[in-house]
Amino acid sequence: MSRLSLEERFRKKLTKVGKKNRFCRYLVIPVLAGGLFFFHGAAYLRGNVKRLAMVAMTALLFVVYSSFSFPIFSPDPGQGEGLSGISEEAEDIVLAKEVEIDLDDISLPEGEGFPEDGEYLETHGDIVELYSASEILEAAEDWEARNGDGAEGGEAAPEPEDVGDMDFSREDWRLVLVNKQHSIPDDYVVMLGTIRTLKGKQYIDERIIDDLLAMLRAAEDEDVELQICSPYRTQEYQKKLFNNHMKAYMKKGLSYMEAFQLSSVAVNVPGYSEHQIGLALDIVTPTHQSLTESFADTDAGVWLAENCYKYGFILRYPKGKEYITGIEFEPWHFRYVGVEAATVMTEQGMTLEEFWEELE
Ligand SMILES: [Zn+2]
Repeated sequence: MSRLSLEERFRKKLTKVGKKNRFCRYLVIPVLAGGLFFFHGAAYLRGNVKRLAMVAMTALLFVVYSSFSFPIFSPDPGQGEGLSGISEEAEDIVLAKEVEIDLDDISLPEGEGFPEDGEYLETHGDIVELYSASEILEAAEDWEARNGDGAEGGEAAPEPEDVGDMDFSREDWRLVLVNKQHSIPDDYVVMLGTIRTLKGKQYIDERIIDDLLAMLRAAEDEDVELQICSPYRTQEYQKKLFNNHMKAYMKKGLSYMEAFQLSSVAVNVPGYSEHQIGLALDIVTPTHQSLTESFADTDAGVWLAENCYKYGFILRYPKGKEYITGIEFEPWHFRYVGVEAATVMTEQGMTLEEFWEELE
């Protein structure tokens, strides 16, 4: 009789117990399986001692070397640059909170060359100059005289039309909606034309220049002096303008979020400004060149509010509609929408948002 191995004896014994009692079988099976796994594992280990020793050595070396870079192994975790360094940084990270700000409580810093009103900077800083209507008209006439029948003559008188049956469309370039919710469409092509004066140039959509010049001329005929500032703005310029506001607010101690919220009421976030598509411009007058609400009470402000629609412009951010436009009352900011649409909007007291909402 051959000598049974430990494994065979173990198996036999368990099988006997399992056969004796039906209930025991349920216990025996897992024990048997575990036993077999153990015996075969041991046999494998015995057959591969050298190989396993190599693996163990490698693993040991890895742990020893890497322990120097793990702070838990370093002698003084408090001084190390490992985890403690990270946790210090982590303490500095504060999650942004949504904040409700009472706008009336906060005003911009005074005496720092930064006025309370939003777009003032662009006219009084060294960024953009003011061009008076007479200078523009003079230059346009001069240009026309030298270049024959130019497209920029400004002679095109507005033609009041019966707008009752007009069909407006959201596809119309004149009605493109750009506001806080609607960024400038990716495929929008800005078609710039030049507003000339003897001292320099400004740019605006070339398709609205005739109507603009006609409006300037009509104002001049009624002894209303207009000055144009900041028509077309590049993305870079809009960014600069926005950042100036951000900086001023943050200098005042406001958080980034608070500064952003306040800045975006005064200046549109870059990519969301009508000035960037060349269809909007700011207009002031020599006696009131700052972009503040009181411009509305000047002769120029009153004349523009009453007459701009005849030339295709609307007062884009009217008083009392701030909750719709998201922008404070800006009696100096005019947007071209075409004579027909401007007439409808003015007659019905609608903002571009309200008008656009009804279009297909
Ligand atoms: Zn403006």
